[in-house]
Amino acid sequence: TVTPTRTPYQLAEERTAHNYHPLPVVVEHAEGAWMTDVEGNRFLDLLAGYSALNFGHSHPELLRVAHEQLDRLTLTSRAFVHDRFADFCAALGDLAGKDLVLPMNTGAEAVETAIKVARKWGYEVKGVTPGQAKIIVMTGNFHGRTTTVVGFSDDPDAHNGFGPFAPGFEAVPYGDLAAVEAAIDENTVAVLLEPIQGEGGVVIPPDDFLPGVRELCTRHNVLMAADEIQAGLGRTGRTFACDHHDVVPDLYILGKALGGGIVPVSAVVADREVLGVLRPGQHGSTFGGNPLACAVGHAVVTMLATGEHQRRATELGVVLRERLEAMVGHGVLAVRTRGLWAGIDIDPTVGTGRDVCEALMARGVLAKDTHGSTIRLAPPLVISEEDLRWGLDQLAAVVGAA
Ligand code: PLP
Repeated sequence: TVTPTRTPYQLAEERTAHNYHPLPVVVEHAEGAWMTDVEGNRFLDLLAGYSALNFGHSHPELLRVAHEQLDRLTLTSRAFVHDRFADFCAALGDLAGKDLVLPMNTGAEAVETAIKVARKWGYEVKGVTPGQAKIIVMTGNFHGRTTTVVGFSDDPDAHNGFGPFAPGFEAVPYGDLAAVEAAIDENTVAVLLEPIQGEGGVVIPPDDFLPGVRELCTRHNVLMAADEIQAGLGRTGRTFACDHHDVVPDLYILGKALGGGIVPVSAVVADREVLGVLRPGQHGSTFGGNPLACAVGHAVVTMLATGEHQRRATELGVVLRERLEAMVGHGVLAVRTRGLWAGIDIDPTVGTGRDVCEALMARGVLAKDTHGSTIRLAPPLVISEEDLRWGLDQLAAVVGAA
């Protein structure tokens, strides 16, 4: 009998749940902004792991730190303290200008952590009636895939079929300050938002929105929780997307790039009055804040503290914006950019976002569609200007704007 040969892609499809629809590429290794597949084809990575690879693949300093830590100590659990813990937490707290850090692993876990902290703060500090805490969230949000979090998503794919859901959330239109104000009542403990909605298609709110939410939260004694998991850590040209508006939230929720594309590292960062509400036994994670995560996370924070990657994102962001804006009306309906981050609405006459991504792949560029007709570009911040221009040339050719 002859066994038909199946590609590694087909084999993967055969033995995994189909909760993703990956492009048909099987990557073997990668460096900087370039990935190489099992057949030796090279691809320019314009997705960067949804911003988890802000510093590129195989960043030499991050790899060095990771290798060194691997050989020394990888896990203690939080039952004991390890020698990388305090330094990482202090460095991240300093970067954010906050007292305390609570490290977790994935983004969704950090969001869950922020929700728990906000509720506990509400009961213990604000004096909300037990069981009544309310958190205001935004339409079009994406905060992860846990049941509580998808419960307040309005994306039918994320939400439908996964209930019953946790109560205590009220959604208001993203960017609508009056709606936020109208939703705030005596039980409101937090406003949870993305300063820019990444999964939503790089949706940027009106300029007065974040400062306005900050002011409302301060006036009504409500915590402002900024989910900077995708927008933060250099992507937009500033350390945090909130920095563009000089807004300081009460809680930063961080993830993705914090792990340098090597290990999952997330964190909630806040002052003592807020994070201090958690006592031993009330929250935890076996792997949260492990030595490897702290070593890599600390190296990431050290790089961000120089401002170099933020500067690159700003400079290359100008190239990105100019090239993309020139495509509007030529296969592209609209573009939204901030720093080295873009949402591109493809003209449906050109094809779907998926069609465009497949055509880009054929030209050696990897990107990912979101919500049907939008493509999000989030190149590694270490990409060269030449490579970025080449990648955008390929996009222009695919949409017919060349
Ligand atoms: N929050 C935001 C803004 C995100 O973009 C994401 C992931 O895309 C998450 C939370 C969830 O992160 P994770 O996939 O690590 O759970």
